[in-house]
Amino acid sequence: MDLFEYQGKQLFARWGIPVPDGRVVETSAEAAVAAQELGGRVALKAQVATGGRGKAGGVKLVATPEEAERAAGEVLGMDIGGHRVEHLLVEAASSIDAEYYAAVTLDRRAGSALFILSSRGGIDVEAAGEGAMSSVHVDPLLGLADFQVRSLVFGAGLAPRARPDAARLLPALYRLFVEADASLVEVNPLALTPGGLIALDAKVSLDDSAMFRHPEFESFKGGTLRPDPQEAMAAAAGLNFVKLDGDIGIIGNGAGLVMSTLDVVAQVGGAPANFLDVGGGAGAEALASALEVVVAGPSVRSVLVNIFGGITRCDLVAGGILEALGRTNVTVPVVVRLEGTNAQAGRELLARSHHPNIRAAASMLEAAQRAVEAAR
Ligand code: GDP
Ligand code: MN
Repeated sequence: MDLFEYQGKQLFARWGIPVPDGRVVETSAEAAVAAQELGGRVALKAQVATGGRGKAGGVKLVATPEEAERAAGEVLGMDIGGHRVEHLLVEAASSIDAEYYAAVTLDRRAGSALFILSSRGGIDVEAAGEGAMSSVHVDPLLGLADFQVRSLVFGAGLAPRARPDAARLLPALYRLFVEADASLVEVNPLALTPGGLIALDAKVSLDDSAMFRHPEFESFKGGTLRPDPQEAMAAAAGLNFVKLDGDIGIIGNGAGLVMSTLDVVAQVGGAPANFLDVGGGAGAEALASALEVVVAGPSVRSVLVNIFGGITRCDLVAGGILEALGRTNVTVPVVVRLEGTNAQAGRELLARSHHPNIRAAASMLEAAQRAVEAAR
């Protein structure tokens, strides 16, 4: 679960990491009131679960409540990387002497957390030279040791007056990472202000598999993070669905078969739009909803249905495909490969329908090739 900045900052505050005083608002009138309460000079920040807000104009610094009202009107409703801005975080503005970067993430290969600190944070952190960056692997049993904190701080070259704050803040970030079961905690910028170090931004991802240990995070769920409409459809239909970046919709039965279908599509030069496993014993209804979910993806240009019948009967699968084509407006080609129980009956059913969108394929490789061609 990726938290919004304001939610991440709630966790920071709970773990003793300094953050600016702020309020979450939904209208420009509320933004003006919040600016008034926070002393006039504020930063308005779009709350969207994506990075690069600064560059997209989603962060505005203003000096008065009137300016806050006007700027809030500009940012609310804005589209940032496909996310509509519905909430703003209004924060007391900080005066920044230096922008640093700090992050804790999981290094799976090393089997431990990786702590990264850089003295060049800010919105162009990707462009920062290597010299400014320092990192340490943290032993999960020993935790972040004092010598590692010093290694980070001196390695990254933080300003001397930032050192005492860093010595408190970095271990707190690591404790938050472990205790909240996070998979990422990122602060960019970690700002050096006249009052010391303060987290001006927060990017926190929590491990969904550990949510059962954290009833206190329940309020972070749903709340404001709107699920992808296609994923919501799949969840409502009880389908095992994962969205990918490509343009070829994939439907199969059994996770292993679907995974190998993704591989074969990639092998013949295609890019899968999703993983969708209808499960064992899937009938017409499951197939029909699977097809509806897959064609709901805006970038899908062809669909590949790959079924290996066992308990699943291919004639029922064929019936489901025809049913879906009857009740949804499917405009893209659907390549179908049926093998196993009642495959022959299923193929005949599809052939007899003479549906203009259906293409039969004899093997998995042929099916992948036809789906890739059809998507061109
Ligand atoms: P991101 O672009 O989505 O990562 O948004 P950030 O929250 O990191 O803000 C982008 C930039 O806005 C920061 O790097 C700062 O330079 C600037 N910024 C954010 N908050 C303040 C603030 O309170 N005061 C000042 N002076 N600048 C701020
Ligand atoms: Mn940032």
